Order: sequence, then C-alpha cells, then structure tokens
Amino acid sequence: AVPTIAVVGRPNVGKSTLFNRLAGKPLAIVDDRPGVTRDRREARGRLGDIPLRIIDTAGFDDADATRLGTDMRAQTDAALREADVCLFVIDAREGITALDQAFGDVIRRSGKPVILIANKAEGRAGVDGITESYALGFGEPVAISASHGEGMGDLHARLTQEL
Ligand code: GDP
Ligand code: MG
Repeated sequence: AVPTIAVVGRPNVGKSTLFNRLAGKPLAIVDDRPGVTRDRREARGRLGDIPLRIIDTAGFDDADATRLGTDMRAQTDAALREADVCLFVIDAREGITALDQAFGDVIRRSGKPVILIANKAEGRAGVDGITESYALGFGEPVAISASHGEGMGDLHARLTQEL
C-alpha cells in the first residue's frame, strides 16, 4: 500500500508549502466532507521513487495561534491516527516555541515514527533553530526549505529509513 504521511506542527511553519511540494500539484484533492475533516487536505504525491499519500493539517488559522486549541488538537490527532510516518515541521528561523513543545508531546504520545523537519533553512538560514530543535527529543532534524526545494534528498533518505 502507498504509505500515508501526516504533515503536522503549529501554524505558519510551512506545512502546506511542504504538502504542495510533495503533492506536485497544489490543490490536488480536497477532502470536503463536512465536519471535523472539513479543512483537511489530502493528496497523492511522491518524493523521488517513493509514492505517498499526504495529509496536510490546516484550518486553524483563525484559532489562537499561541496555544494548542481544540481544533488544532483534533486535526493533528486525526492525521496522526492515519499516518505511517509523521513529518513534524518547525520553523528553523524562529526556533522552538512553547507551542512546538506542545505539538511534540502530542506527536510523541501517538507512538508513530517521526521525522523532525527544520523548515525555512534555505541557504545558511536557521542554523540556531536547527541546533535548538534537538531539545524536542526527536533526534536529528532534516533541514529543508519547502519553498525553495532544498533538502529534499535528505528527506528522501530519512523516509526510506522509516518506511
Ligand atoms: P502552515 O501554516 O504551516 O501551513 O504554513 P504555510 O505553508 O502556509 O507557510 C507559512 C509562511 O511561511 C508562508 O508565507 C510561506 O510562504 C512561508 N514559507 C513556507 N516554507 C518556507 C521556506 O522554506 N522558507 C521561507 N523563507 N518561507 C517559507
Ligand atoms: Mg497550512
């Protein structure tokens, strides 16, 4: 079966940008069932030779972006339940926030394999954030730039290990 990848993390770290990159074509498939899955996006995509089913978590832009609210939590839990591997995205430029820590706890409790993604690390950006991110307890982050397409080879190598 095609492995399911959940892209999780706090707002504005670049989850949807990474989703779109892996999906190849933006807005590939929109899951518009009413209710809890309303704002979830799901697509088929690939990373090199690895075919993927990708779940983006979204729709909490209107929520208080400083705490892990009910909707954020519900969407993240739903995505994690379906995931074979979780991509936990942080913003390497901003470093680790309390909300990142809260997401880390939720993700850890899911028991799913996790690849920590330090995004917005194009060029030499985000070096301090990359170093800080080890404190989340998920080991070595994969530094990428979802918007510039950097680090995709490293992500491919880690996915190959986890699948
Ligand atoms: P989400 O809320 O986690 O889904 O984040 P988005 O994908 O909507 O991105 C939030 C903001 O970060 C947008 O302005 C993106 O253009 C920007 N962004 C996403 N990825 C990168 C990246 O790799 N580098 C930089 N510099 N900005 C990025
Ligand atoms: Mg988004």
